[in-house]
Amino acid sequence: MKLATSKQKEEITKQKWIIIGSAHKTMMMMTMSFNTTTTASCSQQLASSQKTSVRGGRANNKLRAQKHAIARQNGRRASSLVVCDGTGKFVVGGNWKCNGTIDSIDKLCASLNSGKITADVEVICAPPMVYIDRVQSKLKAPYQIAAQNCWVSKGGAFTGEVSAEMLKDVNIPWVILGHSERRSLCGETNEFVGLKTKYALDTGVKVVACIGESLAQREAGDTLNVCFAQLKAIVDCVTGKDWENIIIAYEPVWAIGTGKVATPDQAQEVHAGVRKWMNENVSADVASKVRIQYGGSVNAGNCDELATKPDIDGFLVGGASLDGEAFVKICNSAAHSK
Ligand code: PEP
Repeated sequence: MKLATSKQKEEITKQKWIIIGSAHKTMMMMTMSFNTTTTASCSQQLASSQKTSVRGGRANNKLRAQKHAIARQNGRRASSLVVCDGTGKFVVGGNWKCNGTIDSIDKLCASLNSGKITADVEVICAPPMVYIDRVQSKLKAPYQIAAQNCWVSKGGAFTGEVSAEMLKDVNIPWVILGHSERRSLCGETNEFVGLKTKYALDTGVKVVACIGESLAQREAGDTLNVCFAQLKAIVDCVTGKDWENIIIAYEPVWAIGTGKVATPDQAQEVHAGVRKWMNENVSADVASKVRIQYGGSVNAGNCDELATKPDIDGFLVGGASLDGEAFVKICNSAAHSK
């Protein structure tokens, strides 16, 4: 790959937040009103927290940023969409939800192990808790394991829950938090998800934090406001360093498990909006590095096109992650990522 000259590097900085197209410009400049319920006392509420370790090694960030700058100069980004550009390594998660038996889980692990995953993607599989140990012992690198949930604080008298300390104890590096099914079926609020995120991070477990709007919210024009309010509750609880260990998964609720995937442009629009919001509310550095996955009916047939969008840094996959061959194909759509 041809490296960018220092002039091109300067261009990257200058063009970091390009906004093309007046209609979307207007949209991005709208004044957003946020739920101002303060969660500033997160750290007090989680008094027993420890500092999380810092994950390093996004060796290809610079190269991706340079590639983006060159692409822009070549006019490949001539579109009417907002473009901010993530620079993190492509990352695909498989959320197996509450599915499987010993037999089907073993077959899935064998199928995943027999697939060839390219080096340009990080892959995280989230089996049901009861099979997590089995899957951890069967899946080979590069597969990493995530839990699908964990408790908001130290373990104790919380029947049915699993604590972040337990995940850490059994070397589970990731946890998915704030999935829409937990928000809607288990009543998890934005603030609760923020607190859970902080507690997991402080315990040394990295977080895939899910956000996304319902169909009614989208139809009411509230997509970005809803996502920003969900994000704000997390931002209020975490510090700058924590962002090295957080992946945001944008999952429109209407697209989860429905077969109704967001169009690449619909997904890109929200991802760029989220990144822009992160730039304004956290920092430019965090905004460019944080990885934003798209989730919602991603499959082997639609992944390549979605992956071409500059602010889509990977996928969180439900149904299709139960099919080893399809999931490997989705992981390898990283090759289409710009
Ligand atoms: C999910 O549950 O996170 C998800 C995206 O599911 P599906 O891919 O089945 O829509």
